Amino acid sequence: MPKKKKAHCLRCKRKVYARGLCNPCYQAAYNAIRDNKVTEADLIENGLLLPSKGQGRKVSNPTMKGIEQLSEKDIDDLVNSLLATMESLRNHVKERENRK
Ligand SMILES: [Zn+2]
Repeated sequence: MPKKKKAHCLRCKRKVYARGLCNPCYQAAYNAIRDNKVTEADLIENGLLLPSKGQGRKVSNPTMKGIEQLSEKDIDDLVNSLLATMESLRNHVKERENRK
């Protein structure tokens, strides 16, 4: 049984979500990489992100753990319901933006 590593974000004290970061810090890092403000390698070098473990990525999200047990049909249903949720979220945001 592998020992659990410290479950705190590298940048703050919140619970780790992925790559050693909590959800908000991970999103911030992801956005910074996407916007070419930093590279993934820079963050890893500076200890602000854990290197990706590739295929053996730890699944810390309980939803993702559940997905591993699902059949293809279940996943199709799930994807469709997620897409519907995303679509309604997008509409919601659009409406909100229009009100500004
Ligand atoms: Zn954090």
